[in-house]
Amino acid sequence: MQRKLYDEDHELFREVATEFNAREIAPHYAKWDDEHMMSRDMWTAAGEQGLLGLAVPEDFGGMGMSDYRFRAVLDEEFARSNHLAVGLAFHLHDDLVLPHLLAYGSDELKERWLPGMVTGEKVTSIAMTEPGAGSDLRSVRTKAVRDGDDWLISGQKTFIGNGISGDASLVLARTDGGTGRGSTDSFSLFMVEKGEGYNTGKQLDKMGLKASDTAEIFFDDVRVPGVNLVGEVGQGLRYAAEQLPQGRLAIAVASSAVARTVYEATVQYTKDRNAFGERIIDFQHSRFELADILTEVEVTETYVDQAILAFNAGELDASSAARAKLWASERVKSITDRCLQLHGGYGYILEYPVAQAYLASRLLTIFGGTNEIMRDVIGRAIAA
Ligand SMILES: Cc1cc2nc3c(=O)[nH]c(=O)nc-3n(C[C@H](O)[C@H](O)[C@H](O)COP(=O)(O)OP(=O)(O)OC[C@H]3O[C@@H](n4cnc5c(N)ncnc54)[C@H](O)[C@@H]3O)c2cc1C
Repeated sequence: MQRKLYDEDHELFREVATEFNAREIAPHYAKWDDEHMMSRDMWTAAGEQGLLGLAVPEDFGGMGMSDYRFRAVLDEEFARSNHLAVGLAFHLHDDLVLPHLLAYGSDELKERWLPGMVTGEKVTSIAMTEPGAGSDLRSVRTKAVRDGDDWLISGQKTFIGNGISGDASLVLARTDGGTGRGSTDSFSLFMVEKGEGYNTGKQLDKMGLKASDTAEIFFDDVRVPGVNLVGEVGQGLRYAAEQLPQGRLAIAVASSAVARTVYEATVQYTKDRNAFGERIIDFQHSRFELADILTEVEVTETYVDQAILAFNAGELDASSAARAKLWASERVKSITDRCLQLHGGYGYILEYPVAQAYLASRLLTIFGGTNEIMRDVIGRAIAA
C-alpha cells in the first residue's frame, strides 16, 4: 500500500537527513558504539543542517516547524540506516525536553536554552527516573529547596540518556518538602546545568543502542537559578503527563520504521540465501511469515500515520498516544524476533542489521512508560 503521509517538502527534508546520515554519522558510528558515546561535533553538524529543535520558533533561533511529519522523517532515516542510538539521543532532546520548555518556559528560560538546543551547542537530557521510582514517579525523592532566588537540588537519577554527554537535564524534583509518596502537586521541573554538585556516574552498559550514553546522575546541593524553574511550582507531574503523548508518538514512529526496515532486509536476505537447493523465501513457512509481517508492518504504519496526523491537529490524547506506542512497540518486538529467526545463525551475529535492530528495539516496550503502564492508561480511559 502506498503511504500518503508525506508531501514534497517532507521528501526534500528526507534527502537532507539521508545525506547527513551518510556524511556525519555512518563513518563514525562503529567507533561511537565502541566508546558508548557519540561526538559533540555530530550535534553541531546536525544543528547547522537544521535537524535539531525543529519546533523552536524563529524568535528563538529555530524554524518553527510544528508539523510532526518532519520529526517522523528523521526517525525513519535513523531506523533505515540502523543509527538508532542517534535517533534516541535526538528524541530525548527534541521530543521530551523541548516540548516542556516551549509549553511552560518563561521567555527568559527560552532565551537561555532554545537557541543552543537548535544549534546543537547545548545538548539536553531528561531526568525523571530514579533507582526507586520508574513507573511510579510519585515516589521520586530528589528534592529541590528554595534558597533566596535560587533552588538547591539533591538526589539521584538513573537510566539518563545523554546523561554524560549533555550540558543540562530537565529534572523532576520534589518541592513540597514531604517524604514518602507524593501527590500530584508535590513535584516541579527544573533545567539543571552541569556544575558544582552535579556528578555523573559511570556509563550503564546497555544491551543495544550503545552509541547513546546512559548514566546515573547525582545532585549534591546543586544551585539552580530561579529562572530555570520550568513553569510553576508543583506542576511538574501535570506538565509531564501533558507532554507524554509526543514522547509516546515518537516511540511509535521509531517502532514502525524499524519494523519496515527489518522486514525489507529480511525479504532480501531470504531471497539471497539457499538451503536444500531452494531460496529460503521459497519455503512456504518463510513466505507465510513474511506475509504476516508485511501485513503487520502496513497496519502499524497506517495506525501510526493517523496518530501523527491527530497529533498535528492537536487531537492525540493520552490514551490514543498510549495505544499507538503499545501497538507499534509490541509489533516491532515480535517482528524483529521473527525476522532474526529467518536469518538463521547470521541473525545472531551483530554485523547483521537485524541483530542490531533486535537489541535496539527491545527498549521500546519499556522506555517512555512500560507497556503495562500503557495498558493501564488505556484501561482507565475506557473505564472512565
Ligand atoms: C536504555 C534506557 C534509557 C532510558 N532513558 C531514560 C531517560 O533518558 N530519562 C528517564 O527519566 N528515564 C529513562 N529510562 C527509564 C525508563 O523510562 C524506565 O526504566 C521505565 O519507565 C520503567 O521504570 P523501572 O525501570 O523503574 O521499572 P519498574 O517501574 O520497577 O517496573 C518493573 C515492572 O513492573 C511493571 N509495573 C510497574 N508498575 C506497574 C503497574 N502499576 N501495573 C502493572 N505493572 C507494573 C512494569 O511494567 C515492569 O514490567 C530509560 C531506561 C532505559 C532502559
